[in-house]
Amino acid sequence: PNKSRVTVVGSGNWGSVAAKLIAFNALKLSSFHDEVRMWVFEETLPSGEKLSDVINQTNENVKYLPGIKLGKNVVADPDLEHAVRDANMLVFVTPHQFMEGICKRLVGKIREDAEAISLIKGMEVKMEGPCMISTLISKQLEIDCCVLMGANIANEIAVEKFSEATVGYRQNREVAEKWVRLFSTPSFMVTAVQDVEGVELCGTLKNVVAIAAGFVDGLEMGNNTKAAIMRIGLREMKAFSKLLFSSVKDSTFFESCGVADLITTCLGGRNRKCAEAFARNGGKRSFDELEAEMLQGQKLQGVSTAKEVYEVLSHRGWLELFPLFTTVHEICIGRHPPSSIVEYSEHKPK
Ligand code: NAD
Ligand code: 13P
Repeated sequence: PNKSRVTVVGSGNWGSVAAKLIAFNALKLSSFHDEVRMWVFEETLPSGEKLSDVINQTNENVKYLPGIKLGKNVVADPDLEHAVRDANMLVFVTPHQFMEGICKRLVGKIREDAEAISLIKGMEVKMEGPCMISTLISKQLEIDCCVLMGANIANEIAVEKFSEATVGYRQNREVAEKWVRLFSTPSFMVTAVQDVEGVELCGTLKNVVAIAAGFVDGLEMGNNTKAAIMRIGLREMKAFSKLLFSSVKDSTFFESCGVADLITTCLGGRNRKCAEAFARNGGKRSFDELEAEMLQGQKLQGVSTAKEVYEVLSHRGWLELFPLFTTVHEICIGRHPPSSIVEYSEHKPK
């Protein structure tokens, strides 16, 4: 009778894989209702069919995760309010730039006992300062919000290659354990740590470093240079996180969400891939153009995160403390050539 009902808000590449993992466990674990709803931002496919109809007919997200069956208990729902109405466990996984609008639409529409987790890597910058996506969800919807981040290239998890992930929670260990149970599978190992800000900042900031790593690849500068950029990036990730939240723990950077996600994203991620193309073209083609051409509707997070981080740095007078973060944004907007990634990164952040 008191089974938990899960809705996944988002159905892109990672959103679809998250729904698949959850659907597997919802069937297996008696504490969860079998059916998992997945909100789909509706679109019409070239065939003229609606994406949500095709997902429900074929059990496959043919646009964002082709070739993978999601589980028969996943129900695609294009109506946001309807999708969340009965759920007491909400999993948010959309590109970060859409979350403010989605939260606004959800105010007053969710169950009073609902709990949330965010798989979204990114932040918003307001007049008052930076706001992590889990905080946006918590504040707007007045609910608890954990995060799940890690070295999680979605297409690899979709085919059940072994991966790890980190759940970050604020206070309630029991709630965190419930999320861990919902996501864990034999090939997806999830650990909980009490450091929501640290986990979320790791996932968010590594996308900026991945852009830098992509520039290095595009310029064919080699592995040592790329490793140097990753090391400098990791140090800036830690320094930035701790300046924003003194509670952030050093140990978090050694979890999957930290160094492991940084490595996988700098080796095989979408941010890396588009940044490589940007550098190969000498910065002459914009990221918007490259994203549209190379990602088939999937979205980059690193370019906008670099801008958001830059806004925080310039507002607080910290630009010089973070040469790598600063330079990535300045290259993205065409102020400097891609080659400046190494010239500007040699100064040490405090
Ligand atoms: P995606 O980039 O594959 O897909 C984009 C999604 O945005 C699609 O579902 C599309 O329908 C939707 N969309 C487009 N316009 C929209 C609008 N106006 N309003 C709402 N939705 C709209 O998405 P993803 O890979 O699931 O990424 C979601 C989050 O997960 C991001 O923060 C990303 O960093 C993170 N993430 C991704 C991966 C990965 O490998 N793909 C891994 C870990 C974390
Ligand atoms: P990209 O968005 O760069 O593909 O990174 C995916 C990711 O977050 C892996 O953990």
